[in-house]
Amino acid sequence: MTQGLVTITRNGQTALKAVCGCNGNRAEALAALIRTRQLSSIEEIYNAALSVEFGCPACLVVFTKDDANFGGKEIPRRYFKTFDQPDCNPRWDPGKFDLRVRLERGIISKTRKEPLLK
Ligand SMILES: [Zn+2]
Repeated sequence: MTQGLVTITRNGQTALKAVCGCNGNRAEALAALIRTRQLSSIEEIYNAALSVEFGCPACLVVFTKDDANFGGKEIPRRYFKTFDQPDCNPRWDPGKFDLRVRLERGIISKTRKEPLLK
């Protein structure tokens, strides 16, 4: 089980986040797909994430400041509370992740792996 986070930023501000609780190591594959296909909407990125197996329908959440796709479920409020922090994984209170990728204007600006437990 690996936590993954892909954040799209515009001028350094979070525009969209995709988070998952399994297969988070596929974050780079999702980021590459977003870049090559110039994906920007929640629906496009949700489907792209499933197609590269970044997460699964049970854990995948793709959301912006005011909209989300969590397979029809409501997402917890903390997802929106930490939205402005591009590197915060809202699935876990400590904000941890195994692999995160940040895209700025479709370019991967930052990839970082972090152990979940220190
Ligand atoms: Zn999953």
